[in-house]
Amino acid sequence: MTITQTEPDAKTIESLQALTDAHVINTYGTRRLAFDRGDGCRLWDSEGNEYLDCFAGIAVANLGHNYPAVTKAISEQAAKLLHCSNLYYIESQSRVAALLCKHSFADKWFFANCGGTANEAAIKLSRRYWSKRGTPKPGILVAEQSFHGRTLATITATGQPKYQEGFEPLVEGFTHVPYNDMSALEQAITSSTGAIMLEPIQGEGGVRVPADDYLAQVRALCDKYGLLLILDEVQTGIGRTGKLFAYEHSGIAPDIITLAKALGNGVPIGAMGCTDEVASGFDIGSHATTFGGNPLCTAAALATLTAITAPGFMERVAEASARFISALQQLANKHSAMVEVRGKGLMIGVEFRDSVAQILHGMTERKVICGPAGPNVVRFVPPLIISDDQIDRAVRTLDDVITNVG
Ligand SMILES: *Cc1c(COP(=O)(O)O)cnc(C)c1O
Repeated sequence: MTITQTEPDAKTIESLQALTDAHVINTYGTRRLAFDRGDGCRLWDSEGNEYLDCFAGIAVANLGHNYPAVTKAISEQAAKLLHCSNLYYIESQSRVAALLCKHSFADKWFFANCGGTANEAAIKLSRRYWSKRGTPKPGILVAEQSFHGRTLATITATGQPKYQEGFEPLVEGFTHVPYNDMSALEQAITSSTGAIMLEPIQGEGGVRVPADDYLAQVRALCDKYGLLLILDEVQTGIGRTGKLFAYEHSGIAPDIITLAKALGNGVPIGAMGCTDEVASGFDIGSHATTFGGNPLCTAAALATLTAITAPGFMERVAEASARFISALQQLANKHSAMVEVRGKGLMIGVEFRDSVAQILHGMTERKVICGPAGPNVVRFVPPLIISDDQIDRAVRTLDDVITNVG
């Protein structure tokens, strides 16, 4: 193995690029920046420049960076015990599960390491639930334009061919139907269909918000045909849409839910929750993971959930959301390059007529971090603690970028 000549601690972006190119498989493309430090909605790059973070590491740092209670919980746990296996009880894991139960429909939880592995657990549970009942129904209906992760089963569930190319043979049993289309969903049901798996708002697919009654109708369809409803709330969960879980907006509950992104405010953790009835699909030995729910990540999740479920927290998210969305809508009236502003809570997509590559570049140059959701959509998923001033700055900056780019 060759080691690059670059000093590993060199701070220039060029030297970091060289070090990365020499040793890391490039699945992410060339990047322009490295962040060194964060605080709240602010980030500092390796050269000391300050940025406003409206992306939160893809909807992860919902409490903002370096949130004191999370930092404290992680530090204290790190000084005690980082890891022990799931062959022993883990108090913080059980406490996170209890807190999640208190605030959701779910009765039981399984801890995974990320969104993809939380969804794997959900898919496996659905299959095993039906097979254990003596009526194997391995089929799962999923949506076009969805995103469920990068494992083999979850790229198969994902309704975007670009994530599947070259990885065939894919996993059997998934059928894609158009999102937000009840009749297509009903027509796709067969005797081997066991579940419907959806995002309450499609994130990576372009921040697509379905009709207000879509989830309630899907729930009714599941009840009519005896199917499980799996909601992938990896991105929409943990307060992102203005409720702790996005399903709360529709007055229904799923049978299985998956979480990850913001659950540990940046410490990797995933979770799958379900009813007691559905949990009976798993037995001792049915499913497992080495790291899932370990002391460190569940200490982070406990501190994160405690802060997000504190009284008043979600009210502020609603306020910030209204300000952000209406300011963007005003901007859309002014700029013909903007097609639509959509979203819920602080999960906001702005669709443009053309590719947003130049817009994103312009935002970064002006020190505001946001990201794409597909080729034509700019996604704002800031920390939920974003202030009014910061929202105004993000919108002003977008205005300036569109004016100068388009
Ligand atoms: C990000 C995401 C995933 C995948 O999560 P990873 O942690 O990257 O495995 C799955 N589903 C949705 C809806 C996501 O947004």
